Amino acid sequence: MSIDVHNWIGAAERPSPGTPRIERHSPHDGRLLSTMPDSSVADVERAVQSAVDALTAWSAVTPVQRGNLIYGFAAALRREAETLAAIVAEETGKPIQDARGEVGGAIQLADFFAGEGMRLYARTLTSGMPGKTSHTVRQPIGVAGLIVPANTPIANIAWKTFPALICGNTVVLKASEDAPRTADFFAKLASASGIVGGVLNVIYGSGATTGTALVADARVGVVSFTGSTGVGRKIAEVMGRRLGRLSLELGGKNPMVVCDDADLDRAVHWAALSAFSNAGQRCAAGSRIIVMDAIYDRFREALVARARSLTLGVHEGADLGPVMHKRQQATILAAIARANDDGATILCGGSSAPTDQPADGAYVAPTLVEVPSHDLDIAQRELFGPVATLHRVGDLAEALELANSTEYGLTAAIHTRDVDRANWFAHRVRAGVVNVNIGTYGSEPHMPFGGFGASGNGTREPGVEALDVYSELKNISFLTRSELI
Ligand code: NAD
Repeated sequence: MSIDVHNWIGAAERPSPGTPRIERHSPHDGRLLSTMPDSSVADVERAVQSAVDALTAWSAVTPVQRGNLIYGFAAALRREAETLAAIVAEETGKPIQDARGEVGGAIQLADFFAGEGMRLYARTLTSGMPGKTSHTVRQPIGVAGLIVPANTPIANIAWKTFPALICGNTVVLKASEDAPRTADFFAKLASASGIVGGVLNVIYGSGATTGTALVADARVGVVSFTGSTGVGRKIAEVMGRRLGRLSLELGGKNPMVVCDDADLDRAVHWAALSAFSNAGQRCAAGSRIIVMDAIYDRFREALVARARSLTLGVHEGADLGPVMHKRQQATILAAIARANDDGATILCGGSSAPTDQPADGAYVAPTLVEVPSHDLDIAQRELFGPVATLHRVGDLAEALELANSTEYGLTAAIHTRDVDRANWFAHRVRAGVVNVNIGTYGSEPHMPFGGFGASGNGTREPGVEALDVYSELKNISFLTRSELI
């Protein structure tokens, strides 16, 4: 049965009569799961006003108390973890064990940022002026406009909401059109666990209508956006004009280098996970696998066998589910077909649903592609699906050059037993995250994540670095009298 989701403004559902509604269909079998408003400018303005109204009171709550409220919310998330994981799994089509892992990650984020309420450290400074002492304090920016995609919906929401709240901002979250019920459940649980009033508002709608209106609203002091590089560029233009704070977490075309001295089984394991887990819908997906000539043929054979052995579906234990929707499936299959026309070799996959999945599902079989030229579109542009290109190189210098040859720079990995090679590569590759002998995996709550080049605008979330996104630093100085009075 389909569920009608409504905007959550001032801790209450606010239906928007007359506003057109967007449908969310199951990526697994096409069933209608939910509908949501394509919120208008007026709807967005109402949500922002609610956040503005709540700001004075929320920012006056001490950081330690804000942390205690987030701890309470984390406890509620723990109690409801299974329900939330089921919603995430149904909306995204990911197998339940992956959804559970994601919910666990969101709870860890809550715990981490709740703890920051007891720190929110700033600095004391010396001065050249006798009698003058200085220190910095962190202050909230105001209303935080948070815009997220649905690939890891609860993690994406947690990633932004908790640091924004602990810094004393109020929030208007623009949920993804592909995972509205995840956001709805999150907001209602926050409210039930004491984060009340207009502190956390959630609006639903398309990027073109609702997202654009949120970014344009001058009362929104900081916008944090996770999504595609193209949309990030548009948002940056608007925020640049109105000089608002902006954090962009964008796309990637992440290289994994396999050296000739690598542990082959381990490299194959991590290459498959990097490329295909979450159906390749990870900004950190290892979508370019760069392998040294001496082991290339053996590695290719083993990776193709691994890719062919992966199970698709939504059942527990499946390796990967469908991609987000049929449009995304069509885009990915078209890109593979174009690569084929351009002379690429499709080593495995390249097709839509495996025969035992519903015809209306947005499945893409795990696909490995050998390219005649590294410049081919499929090796340069993020596809956000279970597709990776394989590249043969002679040595590490060539591998590095190739790794650095796209406009992105989010994550990278290298497999080698040689610490000197690993270190040489790690310091030269253009990426915000570099991993040795694991996958092109993302971050943990206390680790900064973000990218070089077209993968972002230089900010890092989460980790304590996220506090810099969501707070203003103020330097306060005193001049005290040196004589006793
Ligand atoms: P998308 O850019 O199409 O949409 C992301 C969000 O932005 C959605 O909520 C959408 O409604 C909204 N949006 C779209 N147009 C907008 C506009 N003009 N103004 C304001 N909001 C707008 O991305 P997607 O396809 O949903 O997600 C996939 C992308 O997200 C990939 O490029 C992936 O790499 C990236 N991503 C990055 C990270 C990271 O941390 N770097 C993490 C996850 C996903």
